[in-house]
Amino acid sequence: MPFSLLGLRPELLQALKPKDYPAPTPIQTLAIPAVLQGVDVQASAQTGSGKTAAYALPLLELLLRQPRSTPRPVHSLVLVPTRELAVQVGETLRGLAASLPFNLKITVVFGGVSINPQMMGLRGGADVVVATPGRLLDLLHQNAVTLSKVQILVLDEADKLLDLGFQDELQAILKCLPPQRQNLLFSATFAPAVQSLADALLTHPQRIDVLPQAGTAPDIVQRAFAVDATQRTQLLRHLFQSQGWKRVLVFAATQHACQIIAAKLRKAGINAEPFHGQLSQGKRSQVLADFKASRVKVVIATDVASRGLDISELPVVVNFDLPRSAVDYTHRIGRTGRAGHSGLAISFVSPDIEAHWRLIEKRQQISVPREVLDGFEPLTTDAASSTHTPRPQGTANDPTGGIKGKRPNKKDKLRLAQQQPETP
Ligand code: AMP
Repeated sequence: MPFSLLGLRPELLQALKPKDYPAPTPIQTLAIPAVLQGVDVQASAQTGSGKTAAYALPLLELLLRQPRSTPRPVHSLVLVPTRELAVQVGETLRGLAASLPFNLKITVVFGGVSINPQMMGLRGGADVVVATPGRLLDLLHQNAVTLSKVQILVLDEADKLLDLGFQDELQAILKCLPPQRQNLLFSATFAPAVQSLADALLTHPQRIDVLPQAGTAPDIVQRAFAVDATQRTQLLRHLFQSQGWKRVLVFAATQHACQIIAAKLRKAGINAEPFHGQLSQGKRSQVLADFKASRVKVVIATDVASRGLDISELPVVVNFDLPRSAVDYTHRIGRTGRAGHSGLAISFVSPDIEAHWRLIEKRQQISVPREVLDGFEPLTTDAASSTHTPRPQGTANDPTGGIKGKRPNKKDKLRLAQQQPETP
C-alpha cells in the first residue's frame, strides 16, 4: 500500500518525498490509519522498523486538523527514555514539519544541559514537546510548560518508560495531562511486567503487533564467542583489527568498564570512546556525533545506548558483557541491521555466564553455536560444566568457516595461569 492511501494530507506526503521511502513499512501501514482514527494504540514492532514515522506522521496530520491559536497549547507530548532518543525523535518531527506550509513549533527538552534555553524555547507554548521525563518534570515545576491541553501522549520505547525506574516521574507527568486524550504506546518489546501498567494507561486500545516475517525481519547474524572473561578486551581488539570493522558499538555492564575498555583500546591505537550516563551531555553528544561521522570507530556503552538510537550503517554490535535480560538483548542488537542493512551481533560468553546466555537463548528462541577462536580458548573450569561444547574453528562443526585467531603470547599464558579476575 502506498503512503498516499493512508489518510495523510498531500502536504505531509510532499514532506516525505526527500526521504525517498519506497513504501510504508508494515508498522506504518497499520499504525498510521489507527492513530488517525483517534483511538489509543499499543504497537510493538521490531527495532529499526520505522516506528518513529509511524506515530510522527499521523500526529502531525491530527495536529494540522486543529485550529491554530496563540500562545500555542501543547497538542502532543512525546516521552522518550533517553536524551539521545529525544534529539533523534525531535529531528524526525522537525524534518517532516520543515517542509510543511505551516509554522509548527516542535520543542525538544532533556536533562544534562542548562534548563534556561529550554525554558526560553517553551515561551509562547509549543505544538509538540519531545521530552525525557525528568527534565519535563523540572520544567513543569518551574511553570515553564502547561500540559493541560495535550491531546496526544506518545510513549516511545514505552516499556522502558513504564518500567520501575521511570514510574514516579511518569505518574507525576500523567497528573498534569487532561484525562481525555489519545495515548500511543510504541516499543519493540512489552515485557509482561509492564503490561498491567500499559492496560491502566490505555482505553480500549488497538493492539498492533508486527511480528518479524521472513524478508522483513532485520538481517542480523547472531554469533557467540566462548572466551574467558580475562581475554575479552584482547578478543575485541583482535576481531576489530582482523575483521576490518569500520564502526562497532560495544555494550558493557558498567560505566567503569566502559572507561577501562575504551582506554585499553585507545592504548592499542584504536579510536574508542566510552558512552554512559555519567558523562556530561556535551560529551555524550560529541561522542555520538563523532561516531556517526566515523571519527570514532568504537563506542563502548552502557544500556543507555541500547534504546531507539538510529546510527545508520552500524554493521556490528558486541555484547562484551551480556545484557541482564532477553528484552535488553533485543534492544541492543537492534542498533544494527537497520533500515534494510544487514548487521552482525556478537556476544562474548565466558564460562561463568554460560547459564545466563542459555537463558537469553531460550527466551529469544534462538540457538547460537559457541565459537572458539584460536588463541582465545576458554581455560576456566566452568567451561567443563557447560553442556554447550564450544565448536572448534575451521572444522566441519564450524559453519562460519572461522575467524583466524592468534596464539596466546607469554603474557597471556601467565595471566591465564594466574586466573586474575578481569578489570575489563
Ligand atoms: P525507526 O524505527 O523509527 O528508528 O526508523 C529506522 C530507520 O528506518 C530510520 O533510519 C528511518 O529513516 C528509516 N525508515 C522509516 N520509515 C521508512 C520507510 N517507509 N522506508 C524505508 N526506511 C524507513
